[in-house]
Amino acid sequence: MDNYKTASVTDKDKIYCNCCGKEIVKTEVVDTYMDYLHIEKSWGYFSSKDLTTHSFNICERCYESWTEGFAIPIEDVYIEDIFFYSEEELRLLNEAYQIELCK
Ligand SMILES: [Zn+2]
Repeated sequence: MDNYKTASVTDKDKIYCNCCGKEIVKTEVVDTYMDYLHIEKSWGYFSSKDLTTHSFNICERCYESWTEGFAIPIEDVYIEDIFFYSEEELRLLNEAYQIELCK
C-alpha cells in the first residue's frame, strides 16, 4: 500500500503528505521527521461515514495553506513543557529545516 493513501509507516519508514503527495522528510536525528499533522478520525452515527475511520498526514506547508482559509483563525497556544534536544540534534534539525525551506 502507498503510505500517503493509508497514513501508516511502510517498511521503508516513509511517511507522505496526503495533500501534496510529497514525502515527509526524515531528519538525521534517529526516528525524527520534519513535523507534520497526523489526523485519525473515527466517524460515528449521524454522519455520512458511519463507523469508518479516516487517517491521514498533512505536511506543514499544506497545513499552512489549508488553515489560512479558515473563517475562524487558529489560535497560537505556546507549549511550555517541551522536549529538549541536544545541541547536535538542534543543529541537525535546523539543517534539515533549511533544506526543506529551500525546496
Ligand atoms: Zn503537503
